[in-house]
This record gives sequence, C-alpha cells and structure tokens, in this order.
Amino acid sequence: MAELSEWNDPGLADRLAAVRGGVADACRSAGRASEDVTLIVVTKFHPAELVAALAALGVRDVGENRHQEAQDKSQALAGLDLNWHFIGQLQTKKARQAARYAHAIHSIDRERLVDALTDLERPVEAFLQINLTDDPGRGGVAPADLESLVERTLTNPSLKLRGVMAVAPLDEPPASAFERLAGYSQRVRAIAPEASAISAGMTHDYVEAIAAGATHLRIGSAITGNRPEPR
Ligand SMILES: *Cc1c(COP(=O)(O)O)cnc(C)c1O
Repeated sequence: MAELSEWNDPGLADRLAAVRGGVADACRSAGRASEDVTLIVVTKFHPAELVAALAALGVRDVGENRHQEAQDKSQALAGLDLNWHFIGQLQTKKARQAARYAHAIHSIDRERLVDALTDLERPVEAFLQINLTDDPGRGGVAPADLESLVERTLTNPSLKLRGVMAVAPLDEPPASAFERLAGYSQRVRAIAPEASAISAGMTHDYVEAIAAGATHLRIGSAITGNRPEPR
C-alpha cells in the first residue's frame, strides 16, 4: 500500500467538508439533530489509499459493494479501526466471509441469507433491503415479504436488526420513494421497536432522504470524485 502522503487529491477534504455541511443544512431544515445521522462514505472501486486518506480526515464509516474488494481493503487497512458497511448484493455462499470484516450488512434481502449468517464469531448489524420498484431484478425484499423477513432475522442472535435500507428508483422522485420507505420502517418497528434505522440517501438524493428520516447515508461520488471503472 502506498503511503498516505502519496494520495494526492487536495479536493478530497473540500468535498468531504461540503457534504458534511450539506448534511448539517438538510438536518436543520428537517428539524433533526445531525448526530442522529451517520455518514457512510462509499469507497467502492477506489483504492485502499483513498480510504486511508478519508480515515485521516476523520471518516469512521465506509461502504463497499463487492465482497472480494471489501475483504482486500479491510485487511489492508485493519489497523485503522474503520466500520465496514457491506451495501451490495451478497451471495449466500460469500455471506459468512463478509461477516468477518463487516460491521453492518445493509443488503439482507432474503431468508436464505439470514440463515447463512448464524453462529457468527461476533454479531453483525443487519439492515433489511427493500425493493422500492416493481422489478424483482433490482434487489431487495418485496414489501409483501417484509414481515416474515423481520421475524426470521429476529430468530438469529448473530444478527442485530437495525432497520431498513433502500435505493431510490430511477423513474420516480426520491421524496415519494423515501416516504414509502418510512412507512416500511414503521412496519418493521411494529414488530421490532429498536430497529429504527433507515439507510437511504446517496449523492443525488441525500437531502430528500434526510427529510424522510434517513439515519444512515451512503454517499460516494460527491466525496470521492468520479469512480474508476470496476476492476
Ligand atoms: C454506489 C452506491 C452508493 C453511493 O452512490 P453515489 O451516487 O456515488 O453517492 C450508495 N448505495 C449503494 C447501494 C451503492 O451501490
């Protein structure tokens, strides 16, 4: 790994500060405390050196969407005390490996995945990903199946159910999609009152997500700059 000083992007600190300011403004407009909102910086496709530079700027939570890449970076940066959030589609057969480095998995979307994550060495925070579209290929549990996925997760002591996660559809204003997500969050809390977290909000829709109650933002390119092509 290159030395931290070799990561030469003077814009990084400015972009991070701008997003932190934008988050604070959106919280103020929504009448919410900014301490109730966790900023996860999505570092997918970027090298470990960028993650190290972010850590030096005070970032503690980072998001990755591919198992192999996340595993490599988390091992390279094991000394940095970062919380690794897994936010991508997770194959059942890779789930246990991801749970070794992941602080949280935001993409729990089926009972088979819940069942693959039993008897872990340490508990992992679980967000249930909900599909806000009618396209089953988009990832996430169908809203009709939400309650049974909650119940199944609650039977697994290795998973600490935190709440819901979603990505806004491309063909709908994010505000209305996130309003629906807030309704699904209430359905989860009716069964599991402590599972009140809402993981939503990316570069182009985090203001709407905060207005709708998001507690965990997953913001990438606004902070990191454009992503390189996936390797
Ligand atoms: C890439 C990604 C993000 C971050 O996207 P940006 O538009 O770069 O902020 C957030 N959530 C998920 C699930 C992602 O895959």
